[in-house]
Formats: sequence, C-alpha cells, structure tokens
Amino acid sequence: MEKETVALLGLGTMGAGMAANLLKAGYPLAVYNRTRAKAEPLAALGARVCDTPAEAAKGAQVVISMLADDEACREAWVGSSGALKSITDGVLLIECSTVSPVWIAELAGLAKSAGAELVDAPVTGSRIHAEGGQLNFLAGGSAEALATVTPLLLSMGKEVQHLGPLGSGAKLKLINNFLCGVQAASLAEGLAWLERSGLDREKSIAILKGGAPGSPLLGSLSTRMANSDYTVNFALKLMSKDLQYACDAAAETGIDLTTATNARALFERAAESGLGEKDMSSVVELVRNSPCN
Ligand code: NAP
Repeated sequence: MEKETVALLGLGTMGAGMAANLLKAGYPLAVYNRTRAKAEPLAALGARVCDTPAEAAKGAQVVISMLADDEACREAWVGSSGALKSITDGVLLIECSTVSPVWIAELAGLAKSAGAELVDAPVTGSRIHAEGGQLNFLAGGSAEALATVTPLLLSMGKEVQHLGPLGSGAKLKLINNFLCGVQAASLAEGLAWLERSGLDREKSIAILKGGAPGSPLLGSLSTRMANSDYTVNFALKLMSKDLQYACDAAAETGIDLTTATNARALFERAAESGLGEKDMSSVVELVRNSPCN
C-alpha cells in the first residue's frame, strides 16, 4: 500500500528523531521548524524543508506536530501561516506535543471546521527513544482515525495505546509527567541533602536505587545529577510547563496538585537562574547552590 504523505511540524529534541524514522520507513515527508537550520540535516535524508507550516501541510494526508507548548502549537496550526490554512478535507492531524487538554479540544474544533480530524498522541520516552523509534504513543480520538495512523506511529514508536476519546492521551501524559516532575524535584533535594551530609554519594545512591524509592527515573536522573551531566534529553523549562498544565487540568476535576505546585516552583526558580535550556536534571544545581545555614 502506498504510504501517506506526511508533514511534521517541529524538529526539536524529539521531532528530529521522529522525522528521521518517518523517512526511514518510506513516508514522503515535508518538515517545518521555526529555526530552519535544524531542518536542513533532514533534507539530506529526503525531507522537503518548508518555510511555513502551511507550506509543509500542503498536499499532506497526515500532519503531525511535535512542538514545545500550547503557544507554539497555536502558532503552527492556526497562525498567519498555520497548517490549517492549507489542509484539505479528510486530512488527519496528530498532536504529539505535550499540551493542555483545553488546547486539544479547541484544536479539534478548528480542525473539524477545516474538514480534518484530530488525534492526540503525546509520547513517553525521550530523545534516545525518538531517535531509536521506541516511543510509546498515548492516544485519544476515534477508533477509525487511530487505526489509520497506527502504522505510521509505529514507524516512530514501539507501542500505540488507545486510551479513549480525544484528549485522553493529553490527560494521561500530564499525569505521567506530574509523577515524573515531582520525583525529579524530590530527588534533587534528596541528593543535595545527602551530599551536604557527608554521606558516601555513590554508595547512598546505589541503596536508594535498589530500595523502595528506586524507579527508572530515579536511576537515570541520579546518575546524571551525580555526574553533573546536563546534556539535554528533556529541557528543564518543559517540565515547568508540564507541571503547570497538570495543575490546571487536575484543578478542573477539583483536585489540587499541591506536590506539583511545589515542584513547579523549584523548576521555575531553576529556569530563572539560567537552567531552563539545560536538561531537567540540572534542577539539582539550584538546590546545591542554596545557602547553608
Ligand atoms: P524542544 O527540543 O525544546 O523543541 C521545541 C520545538 O518547538 C522546536 O521545534 C521549537 O522551534 C518549537 N517552538 C518552541 N516555541 C515555539 C514558538 N513559539 N513558535 C514556533 N515553534 C516553537 O522540545 P522537545 O524535547 O522536542 O519536545 C517537544 C514536545 O514533546 C514538548 O511538548 C515536550 O514537552 C514533549 N516531550 C518531550 C520529551 C523529551 O524527553 N524531550 C519527551 C516526551 C514529550 P525552534 O527550534 O525554533 O526553537
């Protein structure tokens, strides 16, 4: 069967790997990135590099967005050169960015008016999983639309979980990142505390990893924090954004995410201190640099 023509908007840490895997799987691909230089390496792999989202979406049967936040997505989908300006009836849109459920609902309405259908499919996994085609898609939308896009998603990932109606993926993704963000913040505090306490750091980390608090996240972040290795897998400013969206989404159900509020405050202060573009593990530096009593 002939592969759908695809447009991918956003070639950051995640989008670049996703685009490369779409090309590897044989999908004709047009790409757009605000900073065009990041798109150029994909031209060598066969992508058509475009100056606007509208240009990329022209003629595409599927349009995917992998952008920072609600604001970036709004610009790319419905801005003055937004993708919705050039799509035709029957096109499928996939929002893979971690965004608010409120934005997903608004975008779905705009898509419908333009004759298109939206699926939300944010991902778990990070840069390495995007590069290796090992992402997990948390999807919401109609069963028909999901069935159509599943082979395409599987060219970038290993699993597509259909969680229910539109917005279901966005909601679970925020719950996922709420749990990750709170653990990352508490790990930063715990690690800085044990360093100041004069404990053997490596031995202590090994005990924590192997004990009840141990988790894949604690395992990878504790190593990065201990080595002060802040090469970006997941930018710190994105975690701050996700915790805010999580608080807002939970508040709509009447739940106050008090732990997320505190964790977000820590990430915000870290971003203000200049760590926003570094990996989220760098939040430990803020705690390490806090004054001793
Ligand atoms: P990233 O490296 O920071 O890339 C962000 C992308 O958004 C870039 O293409 C950037 O363009 C674009 N962008 C930002 N603000 C914009 C604006 N106002 N207008 C137009 N474009 C804008 O982020 P990422 O790590 O690839 O993450 C992408 C999405 O996936 C985010 O929603 C993130 O939360 C989510 N996610 C990330 C990970 C991870 O581990 N990294 C894992 C799961 C989910 P420029 O290149 O021009 O800046």
